[in-house]
Amino acid sequence: MTKHVTIVEDDPDVRAVLARSLGADGYRVTELATGVGIEAALSAGPVDLVILDIGLPDIDGLTITQQIRRHSDVAIIIVSGRGDLADRIVGLEIGADDYITKPFEPREILARVRSVLRRGRRQAETVADVDRRLTYGFGQWTLDASAQTLASVDGKAIALTSGEFKLLEAMVTRANRVLSRNQLMDACYGNNSPAFDRSIDVCVGRLRRKLKDDPRNPALIRTVRNGGYIFAARGARH
Ligand code: CA
Repeated sequence: MTKHVTIVEDDPDVRAVLARSLGADGYRVTELATGVGIEAALSAGPVDLVILDIGLPDIDGLTITQQIRRHSDVAIIIVSGRGDLADRIVGLEIGADDYITKPFEPREILARVRSVLRRGRRQAETVADVDRRLTYGFGQWTLDASAQTLASVDGKAIALTSGEFKLLEAMVTRANRVLSRNQLMDACYGNNSPAFDRSIDVCVGRLRRKLKDDPRNPALIRTVRNGGYIFAARGARH
């Protein structure tokens, strides 16, 4: 099925490059020059991905991201100017799936778009499977959600604290996407989040030790510089 991408970008040249590249790659494209029409565009029909410029003349892209996330899980890639690192971090923290920095190559856009849409599909499958299947396999490990234990391939069970279990479960069920510390805090603590998000880093450190994941070169729980963490679940099985 043709994927529908909505582009919100006020710079006509950048918008044209985006629309042309995506169109040539088989996507259906809707173009908006300002942020004001985005809600109408989203309710007009299924949208698979929004590519959102941060610097728009009316509403900034971060505010739009927040608005969209109140009611929709649609994939969002934000586009920022070079050097707007803080904007990119905030964008990921408030729920964007990825970002692209200007100037960019059309090939880079297409790779990001494919990757984000692929992750979205995997996540949807995982969410649907959560109720039915209570074990998650990755690497040489199996996480048993009902017993809250981790078992290695040779069957040895490793006990997890409830915080470690929640963090690992949050990562495993959202594999291969960047998870901000805030998102992980919410998953682990709900409304009782401790004030310091570094507690996530401490918990990640303990998990890495239990998973025998080398902190200097982790294969499973990778640190995303200034972003958070990504659970690299190659060969994940449920
Ligand atoms: Ca702009």
